[in-house]
Amino acid sequence: PEAITVAELANRMAEKAADLVKSLFKLGMMVTVNQTIDQDTAELLVEEFGHNIQRVSDNDVDIDSAADVDAEDTLQARPPVVTIMGHVDHGKTSLLDALRGTDVVRGEAGGITQHMGAYQIKTKGGDLVTFLDTPGHAAFTQMRMRGANVTDIVVLVVAADDGIMPQTIEAINHTKAAGVPMIVAINKCDKHEANPQKVRERLLEHEIVVEEMSGDVQDVEVSAKTGKGLDELIEKILLQAELLELKANPDREAEATVIEAKLDKGKGPLATVLVNRGTLKVGDILVVGTESGRVRAMLDDKGRQVKVAPPSMPVEVLGIGGVPMAGDKLTVVDSEQRAREVSSWRQEQATAKRTATAPASLDTMFSALA
Ligand code: GDP
Ligand code: MG
Repeated sequence: PEAITVAELANRMAEKAADLVKSLFKLGMMVTVNQTIDQDTAELLVEEFGHNIQRVSDNDVDIDSAADVDAEDTLQARPPVVTIMGHVDHGKTSLLDALRGTDVVRGEAGGITQHMGAYQIKTKGGDLVTFLDTPGHAAFTQMRMRGANVTDIVVLVVAADDGIMPQTIEAINHTKAAGVPMIVAINKCDKHEANPQKVRERLLEHEIVVEEMSGDVQDVEVSAKTGKGLDELIEKILLQAELLELKANPDREAEATVIEAKLDKGKGPLATVLVNRGTLKVGDILVVGTESGRVRAMLDDKGRQVKVAPPSMPVEVLGIGGVPMAGDKLTVVDSEQRAREVSSWRQEQATAKRTATAPASLDTMFSALA
């Protein structure tokens, strides 16, 4: 946490400290000239006073993908990315397995089952749907906190024999906070003690009004055990996806998000990534978090080698120099030099952040004012 006193900031800005205090007061902060304020507040003040300075971490060296917006006419429809959430034992894993079983391509893979943090199915109608196999709200929230909003649709699993439980409510809250549309899958409907209607009624208490109750949240009765309702669930996912008009530009250098990563004894660092836009190709030079590398090979969720990965496709990437973190953004760059430059810059930044005690970077930050 970097901080600076109001007096010092005023000095560097060549403004009266009293004027800064007044501005802070307008922003709802009661501080005196000798009190310290954090970097965000300092920046806010600097902006207020019309000094056009930039943060140290500004993208002279780093990649600014937010500024790199794709033109409307380059966008094409992409498959939805779905996360399954719900209370423990309500059948998230079983449902993911059952849905994986509906993949019309899977049979051709010859029984190789690759365990990856995400997989994609091809539906009977030929549509693709990507599922993130990271059941657990912690993973979802952690990714979101790292700025990785990869989920387009949440499927909330509620066991019809158990009803709304603490983690169901937690999942509802996380989904609402993320602003992601939800589909309710009422699971275990094969059980004789199942009471799906009670689930719908209890959901009302959490402001989830499902279609059956004349609301607009889609719901479907399923059984991961018998396969009941799975086709209908997929239909509803596709319908929701259509409403969202999910699009990405496939014809550009790729950007992807790390879903999970590990160090494999034989293969080295392995990262499962989900392509957000562009098409990731074997041979691409990349930066991911503080690591860099070149795509040596890519495997799909069936363990098959693939040469290209378009938007919404999850692939395992080989060839990264180290193990990145879940939620890290992978970006393709045009040269190894650029990749090294960005990754070493990021490493320096990370080290600086860890060891930051003195407001050294504030000095740099305000040097532009001199
Ligand atoms: P998770 O903790 O949400 O991932 O739940 P699991 O998928 O591990 O399922 C918990 C238990 O419920 C397991 O014993 C499953 O076999 C069982 N189960 C899951 N789905 C169904 C279902 O649709 N019907 C029945 N009868 N049992 C199910
Ligand atoms: Mg599970």
